[in-house]
Amino acid sequence: MPSLTHLTIAGARAGLAAREFSARELAEAHVKALEEIRPLNAFITETAEQALAMARASDARLARREAGWLEGIPLAIKDLFCTDGVRTTAASRILGNFVPPYESTVTANLWRQGAVMLGKTNLDEFAMGSSNMTSAFGPVESPWRRKGDNRKLVPGGSSGGSAAAVAARAALGAIGTDTGGSIRQPGALSGIVGMKPTYGRCSRWGVVAFASSLDQPGPMTRTVRDAAIMLRAMAGHDPKDSTSVPRPVPDYEAALTGDIRGLKVGIPKEYRIDGMPAEIEALWQQGIAWMKEAGCEIRDISLPHTKYALPAYYIVAPAEASSNLARYDGVRYGLRVEGESLIDMYEKTRGAGFGAEVRRRVLIGTYVLSAGYYDAYYIKAQKVRARIAEDFEKAYREVDVILTPATPGPAFAIGEKMDDPIAMYLNDVFTVPVNLSGLPGISVPAGLTSDGLPLGLQLIGRAFDEETLLRAADVVEKAAAFKALPAMVAG
Ligand code: GLN
Repeated sequence: MPSLTHLTIAGARAGLAAREFSARELAEAHVKALEEIRPLNAFITETAEQALAMARASDARLARREAGWLEGIPLAIKDLFCTDGVRTTAASRILGNFVPPYESTVTANLWRQGAVMLGKTNLDEFAMGSSNMTSAFGPVESPWRRKGDNRKLVPGGSSGGSAAAVAARAALGAIGTDTGGSIRQPGALSGIVGMKPTYGRCSRWGVVAFASSLDQPGPMTRTVRDAAIMLRAMAGHDPKDSTSVPRPVPDYEAALTGDIRGLKVGIPKEYRIDGMPAEIEALWQQGIAWMKEAGCEIRDISLPHTKYALPAYYIVAPAEASSNLARYDGVRYGLRVEGESLIDMYEKTRGAGFGAEVRRRVLIGTYVLSAGYYDAYYIKAQKVRARIAEDFEKAYREVDVILTPATPGPAFAIGEKMDDPIAMYLNDVFTVPVNLSGLPGISVPAGLTSDGLPLGLQLIGRAFDEETLLRAADVVEKAAAFKALPAMVAG
């Protein structure tokens, strides 16, 4: 029997059903793994006792044949999802000791299907970042290393703790949130699958808000099948989130037929950006070849407004963030630093509570929303956003899915790109247009760089057509047959 921490969710589900091991044994193996990966700083809060108690309840349900879809499956939760009675920090000092009195809808959905909570994972502060370097709880280290080079690498971000935990075999799956790439980019950099569903598919209720028109929860797993299993449990209409969409949730796993013959795959020429490493281009070509071999029809398409996506995102996202973060005023949540007057207390609290990147976003956001600049920046960015969505709409008249690289490069060393916010923002050049358009996207581990680091391919689907997206991703995953293990796990 393979080690319990190396199973897939589908494999663990089968093993539990066949009584090869108990949910308790599965949870114990993962609790031990949590301890072993502590040097990575992937978790802000471990919930070992809760995990063991939940696993005991799972064993009882399994014995009564009342198993949910994720019965006994140990999962890691990005510390942006509110968890009832369990500290939720958003990796910020300002929420450092916040204990929510309620449960987010997505996590409640997971527990309802029997999942087991291992803990709350580290992230960039308020999910702002691409490296996990902006966390007030310190950076997360990737379990991967370059060949012959022992420098510590980033896992990507903002869902870096979730990515590292799954890649390092300390959780069978995890959840993240993706506002501009925060599930797909750390997925690609860490050699796992990361999926952002269509905006509105998963409820945002109880998720600490970053940019509300872009934020979307999604699964991070070691296989596409596992992502399909998790998404079915996470998704669904929620009257508590007015942007959650009242559509039935299909059985995503049943969509994985392995047959994508006749599927039309778009290759957007604008994603061939200047200075893109040859390895990324080669990976993309490989992906095209795999899909052709699987019987797809490849079409060149144009998404002409792509080059405006990052600038538009870095107006819209900070604008919404500055508004969402206004609630952290030292009165209602978390940190308070006393002052001479109310205004002084606000200023001292926010100055002490927010890190540098969050302050930068609040400054940019309030600037682009201020009288006199609103039309020039915010309204303009909204118009650009509409054009970008239109580009995709036109493309989907001709194609069923779009294939692109997931990121413009592999994981970088901890500390690299930190003094250059623009270089950091470039990480999301291929993922941000998908958020601006509300579409579903998935990154699939597809190859290694010459120095042994994972690279991902991204597939983008039609709105609410996660089934086709997952079906295509499953075929690409099988063709890529990515088997590499991070240095930490391979030993
Ligand atoms: N890296 C992007 C940013 O910093 C996206 C973050 C995210 O998706 N949460 O805004």
